[in-house]
Amino acid sequence: MTNPLFDALFAPLAGRDTPLLILPDAAPISGDAFLKRVLQMAQALVALGLQPGDRLALQVAKSPDAFALYGACVAAGVMLLPLNPGYEPAELDYFVQDSGAALLLVEDPAVAAVQTAMPGQRVLGIGAFGAMAGGLTGGFAPVARQMDDLAALLYTSGTTGRSKGAMLSHGNLLSNAKVLADHWRFTAADVLIHALPIFHTHGLFVAGNVALLSGAAMIWLPRFQAEQVLALLPRATAMMGVPTFYTRLLQAPGLTRAATAQMRLFVSGSAPLLAETHAEFEHRTGHAILERYGMTETSMNTSNPYDGARRAGTVGMPLPGVEVVITDPASGAPLPQGEAGMIELRGPNVFRGYWNLPDKTAQDLRASGFFITGDLGRFDDQGYLHIVGRLKDLVISGGLNIYPKELELLLDAAPGVLESAVIGVPHPDFGEAVVAVLVPRPGEAPDVAAIAASLQGQVARFKQPKALVVREALPRNAMGKVRKEVLRAEFGGMFVTAVGPSTT
Ligand code: AMP
Repeated sequence: MTNPLFDALFAPLAGRDTPLLILPDAAPISGDAFLKRVLQMAQALVALGLQPGDRLALQVAKSPDAFALYGACVAAGVMLLPLNPGYEPAELDYFVQDSGAALLLVEDPAVAAVQTAMPGQRVLGIGAFGAMAGGLTGGFAPVARQMDDLAALLYTSGTTGRSKGAMLSHGNLLSNAKVLADHWRFTAADVLIHALPIFHTHGLFVAGNVALLSGAAMIWLPRFQAEQVLALLPRATAMMGVPTFYTRLLQAPGLTRAATAQMRLFVSGSAPLLAETHAEFEHRTGHAILERYGMTETSMNTSNPYDGARRAGTVGMPLPGVEVVITDPASGAPLPQGEAGMIELRGPNVFRGYWNLPDKTAQDLRASGFFITGDLGRFDDQGYLHIVGRLKDLVISGGLNIYPKELELLLDAAPGVLESAVIGVPHPDFGEAVVAVLVPRPGEAPDVAAIAASLQGQVARFKQPKALVVREALPRNAMGKVRKEVLRAEFGGMFVTAVGPSTT
Protein backbone atom coordinates (compact mmCIF):
# COMPACT_ATOMS: atom_id res chain seq x y z
CA MET A 1 0.00 0.00 0.00
CA THR A 2 1.35 3.40 -0.79
CA ASN A 3 0.42 6.79 0.57
CA PRO A 4 2.69 9.35 -1.11
CA LEU A 5 2.76 12.00 1.61
CA PHE A 6 2.88 9.56 4.50
CA ASP A 7 5.66 7.52 2.89
CA ALA A 8 7.79 10.60 2.17
CA LEU A 9 7.19 12.71 5.29
CA PHE A 10 6.18 10.51 8.21
CA ALA A 11 7.26 6.88 7.59
CA PRO A 12 10.98 7.82 7.66
CA LEU A 13 10.56 8.97 11.29
CA ALA A 14 10.36 5.32 12.40
CA GLY A 15 13.25 4.48 14.68
CA ARG A 16 14.60 8.04 14.74
CA ASP A 17 15.60 8.72 18.32
CA THR A 18 16.95 12.22 17.64
CA PRO A 19 14.63 15.20 18.19
CA LEU A 20 12.07 16.14 15.57
CA LEU A 21 10.50 18.89 17.68
CA ILE A 22 12.66 20.87 20.11
CA LEU A 23 10.36 22.61 22.57
CA PRO A 24 11.20 25.71 24.62
CA ASP A 25 9.72 24.45 27.87
CA ALA A 26 9.52 20.67 27.62
CA ALA A 27 11.65 17.70 26.62
CA PRO A 28 12.22 17.31 22.87
CA ILE A 29 10.00 14.91 20.93
CA SER A 30 11.95 12.34 18.93
CA GLY A 31 10.98 11.41 15.40
CA ASP A 32 9.92 7.95 16.54
CA ALA A 33 7.75 9.27 19.40
CA PHE A 34 6.11 11.75 17.06
CA LEU A 35 5.33 9.02 14.53
CA LYS A 36 3.76 6.92 17.27
CA ARG A 37 1.53 9.87 18.20
CA VAL A 38 0.60 10.35 14.52
CA LEU A 39 -0.45 6.71 14.21
CA GLN A 40 -2.37 6.70 17.50
CA MET A 41 -4.25 9.77 16.34
CA ALA A 42 -4.98 8.17 12.96
CA GLN A 43 -6.36 5.20 14.83
CA ALA A 44 -8.50 7.52 16.94
CA LEU A 45 -9.90 9.26 13.86
CA VAL A 46 -10.92 5.93 12.40
CA ALA A 47 -12.36 4.83 15.75
CA LEU A 48 -14.52 7.96 15.66
CA GLY A 49 -15.85 6.87 12.30
CA LEU A 50 -13.89 9.14 9.97
CA GLN A 51 -13.38 7.71 6.51
CA PRO A 52 -10.99 8.52 3.70
CA GLY A 53 -12.08 11.75 2.00
CA ASP A 54 -13.82 13.11 5.11
CA ARG A 55 -12.85 16.57 6.36
CA LEU A 56 -11.45 17.22 9.82
CA ALA A 57 -11.72 20.85 10.92
CA LEU A 58 -9.09 21.81 13.46
CA GLN A 59 -9.27 25.07 15.35
CA VAL A 60 -6.68 24.81 18.08
CA ALA A 61 -3.55 26.54 19.32
CA LYS A 62 -0.25 25.52 17.77
CA SER A 63 1.17 22.49 19.57
CA PRO A 64 3.01 19.25 18.78
CA ASP A 65 -0.34 17.44 18.92
CA ALA A 66 -1.89 19.84 16.42
CA PHE A 67 0.99 19.06 14.06
CA ALA A 68 0.69 15.32 14.72
CA LEU A 69 -2.94 15.59 13.64
CA TYR A 70 -1.74 16.64 10.22
CA GLY A 71 0.19 13.37 9.99
CA ALA A 72 -2.80 11.46 11.35
CA CYS A 73 -5.06 12.90 8.65
CA VAL A 74 -2.55 11.97 5.95
CA ALA A 75 -2.31 8.42 7.34
CA ALA A 76 -6.10 8.03 7.57
CA GLY A 77 -6.76 9.64 4.16
CA VAL A 78 -8.77 12.38 5.88
CA MET A 79 -8.57 15.93 4.55
CA LEU A 80 -7.21 18.36 7.10
CA LEU A 81 -8.91 21.73 7.36
CA PRO A 82 -6.81 23.85 9.72
CA LEU A 83 -8.39 27.06 10.98
CA ASN A 84 -7.05 30.24 12.51
CA PRO A 85 -7.79 30.15 16.25
CA GLY A 86 -8.70 33.83 15.91
CA TYR A 87 -11.87 33.03 13.94
CA GLU A 88 -15.08 33.76 15.85
CA PRO A 89 -17.75 31.05 16.21
CA ALA A 90 -19.87 32.66 13.48
CA GLU A 91 -16.95 32.35 11.07
CA LEU A 92 -16.26 28.83 12.28
CA ASP A 93 -19.81 27.94 11.41
CA TYR A 94 -19.18 28.93 7.79
CA PHE A 95 -16.08 26.76 7.44
CA VAL A 96 -17.66 23.73 9.04
CA GLN A 97 -20.86 24.00 6.99
CA ASP A 98 -19.09 24.82 3.73
CA SER A 99 -16.67 21.93 4.05
CA GLY A 100 -19.21 19.49 5.50
CA ALA A 101 -16.62 18.58 8.13
CA ALA A 102 -17.19 15.22 9.80
CA LEU A 103 -15.46 16.32 13.00
CA LEU A 104 -14.39 19.58 14.57
CA LEU A 105 -11.58 19.63 17.12
CA VAL A 106 -11.34 22.74 19.29
CA GLU A 107 -9.66 23.78 22.53
CA ASP A 108 -12.91 23.98 24.46
CA PRO A 109 -15.98 22.21 23.09
CA ALA A 110 -18.08 23.56 25.96
CA VAL A 111 -18.07 27.09 24.54
CA ALA A 112 -21.76 27.61 23.94
CA ALA A 113 -21.24 29.49 20.70
CA VAL A 114 -19.22 26.59 19.29
CA GLN A 115 -22.01 24.20 20.18
CA THR A 116 -24.72 26.30 18.57
CA ALA A 117 -22.57 26.96 15.51
CA MET A 118 -22.41 23.25 14.83
CA PRO A 119 -25.89 21.77 15.01
CA GLY A 120 -25.71 18.09 14.30
CA GLN A 121 -21.95 18.20 13.84
CA ARG A 122 -19.51 16.46 16.06
CA VAL A 123 -17.26 18.59 18.22
CA LEU A 124 -14.49 17.35 20.50
CA GLY A 125 -11.84 19.01 22.63
CA ILE A 126 -8.29 18.39 21.46
CA GLY A 127 -7.43 17.38 25.04
CA ALA A 128 -10.05 14.65 25.14
CA PHE A 129 -9.14 13.51 21.65
CA GLY A 130 -5.45 13.36 22.61
CA ALA A 131 -6.23 11.34 25.71
CA MET A 132 -8.32 8.93 23.68
CA ALA A 133 -5.51 8.54 21.14
CA GLY A 134 -3.01 7.99 23.98
CA GLY A 135 -4.92 4.88 25.03
CA LEU A 136 -4.59 3.27 21.59
CA THR A 137 -1.76 1.02 20.38
CA GLY A 138 -0.61 3.07 17.40
CA GLY A 139 -0.75 -0.07 15.28
CA PHE A 140 -2.19 1.54 12.18
CA ALA A 141 -1.59 0.81 8.51
CA PRO A 142 -1.81 4.07 6.53
CA VAL A 143 -4.58 3.94 3.94
CA ALA A 144 -3.61 3.76 0.29
CA ARG A 145 -3.65 7.09 -1.54
CA GLN A 146 -2.82 8.28 -5.04
CA MET A 147 -0.97 11.44 -6.00
CA ASP A 148 -4.28 13.02 -7.10
CA ASP A 149 -6.10 12.25 -3.85
CA LEU A 150 -6.80 15.26 -1.68
CA ALA A 151 -4.79 15.75 1.49
CA ALA A 152 -5.94 19.14 2.72
CA LEU A 153 -8.59 21.79 2.35
CA LEU A 154 -7.03 25.16 3.12
CA TYR A 155 -9.29 28.16 3.12
CA THR A 156 -7.75 31.23 1.55
CA SER A 157 -7.24 34.26 3.73
CA GLY A 158 -10.04 35.85 1.66
CA THR A 159 -9.64 39.59 2.00
CA THR A 160 -12.57 40.07 -0.35
CA GLY A 161 -15.70 38.02 -0.35
CA ARG A 162 -16.02 34.69 1.34
CA SER A 163 -12.97 32.59 1.96
CA LYS A 164 -12.68 29.68 -0.51
CA GLY A 165 -11.46 26.16 0.23
CA ALA A 166 -8.40 25.27 -1.85
CA MET A 167 -8.20 21.53 -2.51
CA LEU A 168 -4.60 20.34 -2.26
CA SER A 169 -3.54 16.86 -3.34
CA HIS A 170 -0.73 14.61 -2.17
CA GLY A 171 1.02 15.37 -5.46
CA ASN A 172 0.65 19.14 -4.98
CA LEU A 173 2.20 19.11 -1.52
CA LEU A 174 4.85 16.52 -2.16
CA SER A 175 6.13 18.01 -5.40
CA ASN A 176 6.52 21.42 -3.76
CA ALA A 177 8.21 20.06 -0.64
CA LYS A 178 10.74 18.21 -2.82
CA VAL A 179 11.50 21.25 -4.94
CA LEU A 180 11.93 23.51 -1.91
CA ALA A 181 14.02 21.11 0.15
CA ASP A 182 16.32 20.75 -2.82
CA HIS A 183 16.36 24.41 -3.84
CA TRP A 184 17.04 25.65 -0.32
CA ARG A 185 19.47 22.77 0.42
CA PHE A 186 17.75 21.30 3.45
CA THR A 187 19.34 18.19 5.01
CA ALA A 188 19.06 16.15 8.19
CA ALA A 189 21.71 18.45 9.69
CA ASP A 190 19.30 21.41 9.67
CA VAL A 191 17.50 22.84 12.67
CA LEU A 192 14.65 25.08 11.55
CA ILE A 193 13.17 27.76 13.77
CA HIS A 194 9.43 27.17 13.43
CA ALA A 195 7.60 30.18 14.86
CA LEU A 196 4.87 30.42 12.18
CA PRO A 197 1.24 29.46 12.74
CA ILE A 198 0.25 26.06 11.35
CA PHE A 199 -3.24 26.95 10.14
CA HIS A 200 -1.63 28.48 7.03
CA THR A 201 0.35 27.01 4.14
CA HIS A 202 3.54 28.81 5.14
CA GLY A 203 3.97 27.19 8.56
CA LEU A 204 2.22 23.91 7.85
CA PHE A 205 3.47 23.00 4.41
CA VAL A 206 6.41 25.20 3.45
CA ALA A 207 8.17 24.94 6.81
CA GLY A 208 6.65 21.70 8.12
CA ASN A 209 6.88 19.57 4.96
CA VAL A 210 10.37 20.75 4.02
CA ALA A 211 11.70 19.91 7.49
CA LEU A 212 9.97 16.51 7.54
CA LEU A 213 11.08 15.60 4.04
CA SER A 214 14.71 16.44 4.68
CA GLY A 215 14.90 14.81 8.11
CA ALA A 216 15.63 18.16 9.77
CA ALA A 217 14.68 19.11 13.34
CA MET A 218 12.42 22.02 14.23
CA ILE A 219 12.57 24.37 17.19
CA TRP A 220 8.84 24.44 17.73
CA LEU A 221 7.60 27.75 19.09
CA PRO A 222 3.95 28.58 19.76
CA ARG A 223 4.46 32.09 18.38
CA PHE A 224 7.15 34.49 17.26
CA GLN A 225 8.83 36.49 20.00
CA ALA A 226 11.94 38.34 18.85
CA GLU A 227 13.97 37.98 22.05
CA GLN A 228 13.24 34.28 22.32
CA VAL A 229 14.12 33.64 18.68
CA LEU A 230 17.29 35.69 19.04
CA ALA A 231 18.37 33.55 21.99
CA LEU A 232 17.71 30.37 19.97
CA LEU A 233 19.51 31.40 16.77
CA PRO A 234 22.83 29.84 17.89
CA ARG A 235 21.07 26.45 18.11
CA ALA A 236 19.47 26.71 14.66
CA THR A 237 20.56 26.72 11.02
CA ALA A 238 17.51 28.15 9.24
CA MET A 239 14.37 30.19 9.77
CA MET A 240 11.29 30.80 7.65
CA GLY A 241 9.27 33.86 8.47
CA VAL A 242 6.92 36.59 7.39
CA PRO A 243 8.42 40.08 6.95
CA THR A 244 7.27 41.14 10.42
CA PHE A 245 9.66 38.57 11.95
CA TYR A 246 12.53 40.41 10.31
CA THR A 247 11.44 43.92 11.19
CA ARG A 248 10.99 42.81 14.82
CA LEU A 249 14.38 41.11 14.92
CA LEU A 250 15.93 44.31 13.58
CA GLN A 251 14.49 46.21 16.53
CA ALA A 252 16.43 43.93 18.91
CA PRO A 253 19.92 45.26 19.67
CA GLY A 254 21.18 41.67 20.05
CA LEU A 255 20.77 40.97 16.32
CA THR A 256 24.40 40.83 15.22
CA ARG A 257 26.75 38.86 13.02
CA ALA A 258 27.83 36.82 16.03
CA ALA A 259 24.22 35.99 16.99
CA THR A 260 23.50 34.62 13.51
CA ALA A 261 26.86 32.99 12.83
CA GLN A 262 25.39 29.45 13.00
CA MET A 263 22.55 30.24 10.63
CA ARG A 264 22.80 29.35 6.95
CA LEU A 265 19.42 30.57 5.68
CA PHE A 266 16.70 33.10 6.40
CA VAL A 267 13.62 32.85 4.17
CA SER A 268 10.82 35.41 3.92
CA GLY A 269 7.40 35.26 2.28
CA SER A 270 3.60 35.63 2.53
CA ALA A 271 3.85 39.41 2.17
CA PRO A 272 6.34 41.78 0.54
CA LEU A 273 9.62 42.31 2.35
CA LEU A 274 10.66 45.95 2.23
CA ALA A 275 13.91 46.42 0.31
CA GLU A 276 15.11 48.41 3.27
CA THR A 277 14.52 45.53 5.68
CA HIS A 278 16.50 43.29 3.36
CA ALA A 279 19.40 45.75 3.24
CA GLU A 280 19.42 46.46 6.95
CA PHE A 281 19.30 42.78 7.83
CA GLU A 282 22.26 42.09 5.57
CA HIS A 283 24.16 44.99 7.05
CA ARG A 284 23.56 43.82 10.62
CA THR A 285 24.04 40.07 10.15
CA GLY A 286 25.79 39.47 6.84
CA HIS A 287 22.82 37.31 5.72
CA ALA A 288 20.83 38.18 2.59
CA ILE A 289 17.23 37.15 3.31
CA LEU A 290 15.93 34.82 0.60
CA GLU A 291 12.50 36.03 -0.51
CA ARG A 292 10.04 33.67 -2.17
CA TYR A 293 6.50 33.92 -3.46
CA GLY A 294 3.61 31.54 -3.09
CA MET A 295 0.00 31.21 -2.10
CA THR A 296 -2.47 28.82 -0.51
CA GLU A 297 -3.68 27.54 -3.89
CA THR A 298 -0.26 26.79 -5.32
CA SER A 299 2.25 26.42 -2.49
CA MET A 300 5.51 28.06 -3.63
CA ASN A 301 5.95 29.44 -7.12
CA THR A 302 9.16 31.45 -7.31
CA SER A 303 12.24 31.89 -5.18
CA ASN A 304 15.37 33.94 -5.10
CA PRO A 305 18.41 31.76 -5.72
CA TYR A 306 20.27 29.92 -2.97
CA ASP A 307 23.54 30.63 -4.75
CA GLY A 308 23.59 33.86 -6.68
CA ALA A 309 22.10 37.25 -6.03
CA ARG A 310 19.08 37.42 -3.69
CA ARG A 311 17.61 40.64 -4.92
CA ALA A 312 15.67 42.86 -2.57
CA GLY A 313 12.18 43.76 -3.76
CA THR A 314 11.96 40.73 -6.05
CA VAL A 315 10.61 37.22 -5.50
CA GLY A 316 13.20 35.55 -7.71
CA MET A 317 12.70 33.08 -10.53
CA PRO A 318 10.15 30.31 -11.16
CA LEU A 319 10.94 27.18 -9.16
CA PRO A 320 11.83 24.06 -11.16
CA GLY A 321 8.68 22.64 -12.75
CA VAL A 322 6.69 25.86 -12.37
CA GLU A 323 5.87 27.86 -15.52
CA VAL A 324 5.05 31.54 -15.03
CA VAL A 325 3.54 33.82 -17.68
CA ILE A 326 2.49 37.46 -17.50
CA THR A 327 -0.77 38.26 -19.25
CA ASP A 328 -2.88 41.28 -20.11
CA PRO A 329 -5.52 41.86 -17.40
CA ALA A 330 -8.09 42.78 -20.06
CA SER A 331 -7.53 40.16 -22.76
CA GLY A 332 -5.60 37.41 -20.96
CA ALA A 333 -3.06 37.38 -23.81
CA PRO A 334 0.65 36.96 -22.97
CA LEU A 335 2.52 40.26 -22.66
CA PRO A 336 5.98 41.06 -23.99
CA GLN A 337 8.94 40.56 -21.63
CA GLY A 338 9.23 43.34 -19.07
CA GLU A 339 5.60 44.46 -19.08
CA ALA A 340 3.45 44.26 -15.96
CA GLY A 341 0.31 42.15 -15.98
CA MET A 342 -1.44 39.19 -14.39
CA ILE A 343 0.76 36.43 -13.00
CA GLU A 344 -0.45 33.05 -14.25
CA LEU A 345 1.24 29.78 -13.46
CA ARG A 346 1.17 26.08 -14.15
CA GLY A 347 2.88 23.13 -12.53
CA PRO A 348 2.45 20.13 -10.25
CA ASN A 349 2.04 22.54 -7.35
CA VAL A 350 -1.20 24.06 -8.69
CA PHE A 351 -4.24 23.02 -6.62
CA ARG A 352 -7.17 20.89 -7.76
CA GLY A 353 -9.74 23.67 -7.57
CA TYR A 354 -11.99 25.40 -5.04
CA TRP A 355 -14.18 23.19 -2.87
CA ASN A 356 -17.77 23.11 -4.15
CA LEU A 357 -17.14 26.09 -6.45
CA PRO A 358 -16.85 24.69 -9.99
CA ASP A 359 -17.67 28.05 -11.60
CA LYS A 360 -15.05 29.96 -9.63
CA THR A 361 -12.57 27.17 -10.33
CA ALA A 362 -13.26 27.34 -14.06
CA GLN A 363 -12.86 31.11 -13.98
CA ASP A 364 -9.44 31.06 -12.29
CA LEU A 365 -8.02 27.79 -13.55
CA ARG A 366 -7.74 27.74 -17.33
CA ALA A 367 -8.28 24.54 -19.32
CA SER A 368 -4.61 24.81 -20.28
CA GLY A 369 -3.72 24.28 -16.61
CA PHE A 370 -2.66 27.87 -15.99
CA PHE A 371 -3.94 29.36 -12.74
CA ILE A 372 -4.74 33.07 -12.71
CA THR A 373 -3.21 34.01 -9.37
CA GLY A 374 -4.83 37.42 -8.96
CA ASP A 375 -1.36 38.88 -8.44
CA LEU A 376 0.21 41.39 -10.80
CA GLY A 377 3.86 41.26 -11.69
CA ARG A 378 6.62 41.72 -14.22
CA PHE A 379 9.90 40.04 -15.01
CA ASP A 380 13.00 42.23 -15.12
CA ASP A 381 15.72 41.72 -17.72
CA GLN A 382 17.56 39.33 -15.43
CA GLY A 383 14.54 37.05 -15.06
CA TYR A 384 13.56 38.07 -11.52
CA LEU A 385 9.86 38.45 -10.85
CA HIS A 386 8.61 41.67 -9.22
CA ILE A 387 5.15 41.66 -7.66
CA VAL A 388 3.44 44.95 -8.36
CA GLY A 389 0.14 44.41 -6.56
CA ARG A 390 -3.02 42.36 -6.52
CA LEU A 391 -5.43 42.55 -9.44
CA LYS A 392 -8.15 43.69 -7.07
CA ASP A 393 -5.80 46.44 -5.79
CA LEU A 394 -5.03 47.72 -9.28
CA VAL A 395 -6.11 51.34 -9.43
CA ILE A 396 -7.80 52.50 -12.62
CA SER A 397 -7.91 56.27 -12.71
CA GLY A 398 -9.26 58.04 -15.76
CA GLY A 399 -9.13 54.70 -17.55
CA LEU A 400 -5.40 54.29 -16.91
CA ASN A 401 -3.83 51.46 -14.91
CA ILE A 402 -1.79 52.35 -11.86
CA TYR A 403 0.21 49.64 -10.14
CA PRO A 404 0.30 50.44 -6.41
CA LYS A 405 3.78 49.00 -5.95
CA GLU A 406 5.38 51.50 -8.27
CA LEU A 407 4.23 54.33 -6.03
CA GLU A 408 4.83 52.44 -2.80
CA LEU A 409 8.47 51.94 -3.71
CA LEU A 410 8.93 55.68 -4.22
CA LEU A 411 7.02 56.58 -1.08
CA ASP A 412 8.88 54.04 1.07
CA ALA A 413 12.09 55.76 0.06
CA ALA A 414 10.83 59.26 0.95
CA PRO A 415 12.32 61.03 4.00
CA GLY A 416 10.68 60.11 7.28
CA VAL A 417 8.59 57.29 5.75
CA LEU A 418 8.83 53.77 7.11
CA GLU A 419 6.34 52.17 4.76
CA SER A 420 3.31 52.98 2.66
CA ALA A 421 0.18 51.55 1.09
CA VAL A 422 -1.40 52.89 -2.07
CA ILE A 423 -5.10 52.33 -2.70
CA GLY A 424 -7.75 53.45 -5.16
CA VAL A 425 -10.91 55.09 -3.87
CA PRO A 426 -14.04 56.19 -5.76
CA HIS A 427 -13.68 59.59 -7.43
CA PRO A 428 -16.45 61.48 -9.24
CA ASP A 429 -14.26 62.54 -12.20
CA PHE A 430 -11.66 59.84 -12.51
CA GLY A 431 -13.58 56.76 -11.45
CA GLU A 432 -10.87 56.05 -8.96
CA ALA A 433 -8.24 58.24 -7.39
CA VAL A 434 -4.98 57.26 -5.75
CA VAL A 435 -4.68 57.69 -2.00
CA ALA A 436 -1.33 57.05 -0.35
CA VAL A 437 -1.20 56.03 3.29
CA LEU A 438 2.17 56.76 4.88
CA VAL A 439 3.57 55.31 8.10
CA PRO A 440 6.27 57.49 9.67
CA ARG A 441 9.59 56.16 10.90
CA PRO A 442 9.63 56.07 14.69
CA GLY A 443 9.91 59.59 16.05
CA GLU A 444 9.70 61.28 12.63
CA ALA A 445 7.00 63.31 10.93
CA PRO A 446 7.13 63.06 7.15
CA ASP A 447 6.61 66.33 5.27
CA VAL A 448 3.55 65.28 3.28
CA ALA A 449 3.55 68.31 0.99
CA ALA A 450 7.23 67.86 0.16
CA ILE A 451 6.69 64.16 -0.57
CA ALA A 452 3.75 64.94 -2.86
CA ALA A 453 5.88 67.53 -4.65
CA SER A 454 8.78 65.10 -5.00
CA LEU A 455 6.58 62.69 -6.97
CA GLN A 456 6.22 65.29 -9.69
CA GLY A 457 8.89 64.51 -12.21
CA GLN A 458 9.15 60.94 -10.95
CA VAL A 459 5.80 59.59 -12.11
CA ALA A 460 3.19 60.72 -14.61
CA ARG A 461 0.60 63.12 -13.32
CA PHE A 462 -2.28 60.62 -13.53
CA LYS A 463 -0.48 58.32 -11.11
CA GLN A 464 0.17 60.93 -8.48
CA PRO A 465 -1.85 60.53 -5.28
CA LYS A 466 -4.82 62.84 -4.90
CA ALA A 467 -4.30 62.60 -1.15
CA LEU A 468 -1.53 61.51 1.17
CA VAL A 469 -2.50 60.55 4.69
CA VAL A 470 -0.40 59.57 7.66
CA ARG A 471 -1.25 56.64 9.91
CA GLU A 472 0.69 55.15 12.82
CA ALA A 473 0.55 51.65 11.34
CA LEU A 474 -0.99 49.71 8.45
CA PRO A 475 -3.76 47.21 9.20
CA ARG A 476 -2.38 43.69 8.75
CA ASN A 477 -3.72 40.14 8.95
CA ALA A 478 -2.15 37.25 10.86
CA MET A 479 0.36 36.59 8.08
CA GLY A 480 1.49 40.21 7.92
CA LYS A 481 -0.39 41.08 4.73
CA VAL A 482 -1.61 44.66 4.50
CA ARG A 483 -5.42 44.67 4.56
CA LYS A 484 -6.08 47.21 1.84
CA GLU A 485 -9.82 46.62 2.05
CA VAL A 486 -9.72 48.14 5.54
CA LEU A 487 -7.98 51.23 4.16
CA ARG A 488 -10.43 51.43 1.26
CA ALA A 489 -13.30 51.33 3.75
CA GLU A 490 -11.73 54.08 5.80
CA PHE A 491 -10.86 56.41 2.93
CA GLY A 492 -13.49 55.35 0.39
CA GLY A 493 -15.70 58.39 1.03
CA MET A 494 -12.92 60.91 0.69
CA PHE A 495 -13.85 62.30 -2.70
CA VAL A 496 -17.52 61.50 -2.81
CA THR A 497 -18.69 63.16 0.41
CA ALA A 498 -18.11 66.70 1.51
CA VAL A 499 -16.27 65.81 4.68
CA GLY A 500 -13.22 63.60 4.31
CA PRO A 501 -10.64 62.44 6.81
CA SER A 502 -7.89 64.79 7.80
CA THR A 503 -4.82 64.66 5.61
CA THR A 504 -2.29 64.96 8.37
P1 AMP B 1 -1.92 33.23 1.02
O1 AMP B 1 -2.81 32.44 0.17
O2 AMP B 1 -2.52 33.64 2.32
O3 AMP B 1 -0.61 32.55 1.23
O4 AMP B 1 -1.63 34.59 0.26
C1 AMP B 1 -1.00 34.55 -1.00
C2 AMP B 1 -0.69 35.93 -1.46
O5 AMP B 1 0.30 36.55 -0.64
C3 AMP B 1 -0.11 35.95 -2.84
O6 AMP B 1 -1.10 35.81 -3.82
C4 AMP B 1 0.59 37.30 -2.85
O7 AMP B 1 -0.35 38.33 -3.11
C5 AMP B 1 1.08 37.43 -1.42
N1 AMP B 1 2.50 37.08 -1.29
C6 AMP B 1 3.04 35.91 -0.92
N2 AMP B 1 4.39 36.00 -0.90
C7 AMP B 1 4.70 37.25 -1.28
C8 AMP B 1 5.91 37.97 -1.46
N3 AMP B 1 7.10 37.43 -1.22
N4 AMP B 1 5.84 39.26 -1.87
C9 AMP B 1 4.64 39.84 -2.10
N5 AMP B 1 3.47 39.23 -1.94
C10 AMP B 1 3.49 37.94 -1.53
